[in-house]
Amino acid sequence: MSEHSSNNAQKNDFIRNIIRDDIKAQKYPQIVTRFPPEPNGYLHLGHVKSICLNFGIAEEFGGVCNLRFDDTNPTAEKQDFIDNIENDVKWLGFEWAGEAHHASGYFDQLYAWAVQLIEQGDAYVDLQSPEQIRDNRGSFNEAGTPSPQRDASVAENLARFNEMKDGKFAEGEAVLRAKIDMASPNMNMRDPVIYRVMHQAHHQTGDKWCIYPMYDFAHPLSDALEGITHSLCTLEFEDHRPFYDWTVEKIGFEVPPHQYEFSRLNVDHTMTSKRKLKQLVDEGVVSGWDDPRMPTIAGMRRRGYTPEGLRDFCERVGVTKVDSVVDFRLLEFSIRQSLETTTARGMAVLKPLKVTITNFYDAVSSWESQKADSVNARWDEDAQTLWLKQPKHPNVDMGEREIPFTETLYIDQGDYEIEPPAGYKRLSPVKPEIRLRNTYVLAVTEHITDDAGNVTELKATIDPATLGNNPEGRKVKGVIHWVSASLGVPATVRMYEQLFSVEDPGSASDVHQVLNPNSLTELAAVVEPSLANADAGTRFQFEREGYFIADSEEHTSDKPVFNQIVSLRDSYKPA
Ligand code: ATP
Ligand code: MG
Repeated sequence: MSEHSSNNAQKNDFIRNIIRDDIKAQKYPQIVTRFPPEPNGYLHLGHVKSICLNFGIAEEFGGVCNLRFDDTNPTAEKQDFIDNIENDVKWLGFEWAGEAHHASGYFDQLYAWAVQLIEQGDAYVDLQSPEQIRDNRGSFNEAGTPSPQRDASVAENLARFNEMKDGKFAEGEAVLRAKIDMASPNMNMRDPVIYRVMHQAHHQTGDKWCIYPMYDFAHPLSDALEGITHSLCTLEFEDHRPFYDWTVEKIGFEVPPHQYEFSRLNVDHTMTSKRKLKQLVDEGVVSGWDDPRMPTIAGMRRRGYTPEGLRDFCERVGVTKVDSVVDFRLLEFSIRQSLETTTARGMAVLKPLKVTITNFYDAVSSWESQKADSVNARWDEDAQTLWLKQPKHPNVDMGEREIPFTETLYIDQGDYEIEPPAGYKRLSPVKPEIRLRNTYVLAVTEHITDDAGNVTELKATIDPATLGNNPEGRKVKGVIHWVSASLGVPATVRMYEQLFSVEDPGSASDVHQVLNPNSLTELAAVVEPSLANADAGTRFQFEREGYFIADSEEHTSDKPVFNQIVSLRDSYKPA
């Protein structure tokens, strides 16, 4: 699967350098990584970075990457999330080794290892309340106070742990703790909880268990069981690494996995937290996890973002240990780049203004004798339409489309101004002529306004000699797009801005205060038939307007619906 690397230059981040050294030292027969989501929501942009890193490394170094659901907390998890996560990883273009794994698949083994720790004198059942446990942990300056059960005998602890498993304790009445060091400067080493009582069915194991391992216990051992060599996670787990190492060492793995931490992906004007994104879904702030404004993979897919663009973005962001915030325009840059040579062109008028060509029949009757050789067209007598054949892409062979040119057209409202601002290059009473893309030069002869003075319609003529030819004796500046009024298809076009109005919405106490009221605008547009007839999920460049996708859920040829993917250009340049 190495075809994914869009640039062949060797990536030199610190993790890949560690792996190169490990390979040189022949430390492992094969590099094995894993992507370990908890199925408690949909994956987001932050996870894309983790996926690209874990699967990317496996590909580059001839290794494998597992997909493992870290499903140790059944309250927040469900099968729907699992299905969507699998779908998202595949859509990004990655394949995990064998079947997907689940931490819950190891519950028997994890239980046996917990018993082993008790037998070794490395774990004990604590009967303190959660409040007492918290109070007795001490503080940064103060050692913790040992639990009254800390020195209970192995036999007592085995009996109590067995009772925990058999449902003899209510939630909060007993936990199993690792016996490490209540005075450790690292709070995570002050006898962390490794098993808790939860009278809760699990989406994978049903009612089998009423005790569940803690993430910090299950994770290193799941890694070890799967033969993971490099366990890559985000920086907030750095302080957990001593316990990670403690756990795999106490259980006695000969080739222990190693944890390496990298900085999270943060992008301005967005947030990467499943919990906070779930709030937006649950409260109906967005239409769902796949709302095109959401930074979820499902949302970005529906928005029209490409897997190639997302992977390119992650490559550009790179992997470091330094926390930073990435400019969202870099993401848009990568997406735009991935669309330039892969999308067919088409004309869509987003804010239609009607134009009636008063000399249409006279002018078009002579089209064949007056057209340039470069023009490919046919006259359709029944429909009174000149069908213009045009390539779908100017320099990539994607075939041709037929564009109907008729007596009435739509152009964009923004392309005609009664009182044009300085430097305005489109149509106005003082500059009535312009090239209609792919067809004649048009000259406006009259504008009609409503009572409020808004232009409601234009009357115009076309110059018969300009079908593919330059006009005689004058230079006409500017080209605008248009759509036939009679054969164009009305379409809903959704324009997007950032969902959030501030750079760091994740830190807002109330997300409602930082929502951008203009994040979604629906336009009643008109599109050329080739756009309406496209399958749902097809991406286009609408000439002069940007990149758009036929919505995967709602688009039909009769009622086209397009989502704006990204604008055509931006002054932003990546460093
Ligand atoms: P969230 O808080 O959104 O639920 P999480 O880290 O708890 O995120 P997990 O499902 O546990 O979500 O994450 C799976 C993997 O993705 C972990 O290895 C985690 O470190 C990584 N990950 C999560 N968020 C980011 C991010 N913003 N940047 C890079 N990696 C991330
Ligand atoms: Mg998590």
